[in-house]
Amino acid sequence: MTQPARRFGRYDVTILHDGVFEAPIEVLTHAAGEAARQAALMQWGQPTLRIPVKCFLLRDADGLVLVDAGTGTSWGDAYGHARAALAALGIARDEIGRILITHLHGDHALGLFDGDRPYFPKARVLVPQADLSFFSDEAKRAETPDNRRGGFAIAATLQRLYDGRVEAVSGLQEILPGIDRVPLPGHTHGQSGYLVRDAARSLLLWGDALHLETLQASDPDIGLVYDLDGATAVRSRRDILNRASREGWLVSGGHIEGFRTVGRRGDGFMLSAA
Ligand SMILES: [Zn+2]
Repeated sequence: MTQPARRFGRYDVTILHDGVFEAPIEVLTHAAGEAARQAALMQWGQPTLRIPVKCFLLRDADGLVLVDAGTGTSWGDAYGHARAALAALGIARDEIGRILITHLHGDHALGLFDGDRPYFPKARVLVPQADLSFFSDEAKRAETPDNRRGGFAIAATLQRLYDGRVEAVSGLQEILPGIDRVPLPGHTHGQSGYLVRDAARSLLLWGDALHLETLQASDPDIGLVYDLDGATAVRSRRDILNRASREGWLVSGGHIEGFRTVGRRGDGFMLSAA
């Protein structure tokens, strides 16, 4: 069930559950090499990774905003439940006016599409500039393995179906009232966190800065093969955990189960329910 909205600044924020992503543990990586990777796998202790998939509904006086759009119907029945969650809240798809995409991967962006039509017929879609340009680059596509080309198809479909309503975001700009972009490169080149500013306690929606909240908070050198640039992803992960703990932000993201605080623990960090 969808939890009640929580207020941050001018927005009421609701977490929408889209599904569960399952992957073999072979996708786990470690920046320090194989021995450290084996230790991380021991710590995980399960035969597969089960990763929740989330997106977010924000409501303010100007209307409704989504942060990420879920998976839609493209990846089968285990995904796409954010649509039903929106419907259960009494929200029609044409009421969504603005959609902020953290990065152009399927579990965050395929929900924008309804076959050959836009699923959200009235929405403007704000997308990281660096993702749009990378995933629209034919030379980059050609050098990317087949099984990692999803973002390229998404960029093409997005431009076609939302023609004239796609806006690129970059830098540290305020992209909507009360929402700042926070660059988190590495998982993709343009990955963007969206910081919902609040005088007391802001909320950072960090996309895929972490996929495995316990493991990667305790050791930010742990990554997944889905990180396009693993070394940069590690740096972004460490930096953002540090910054969130220092600023006292709450965090959530595409693969985090709720709202979390970030604290330091040993050499790493710990997320706690908030
Ligand atoms: Zn993801």
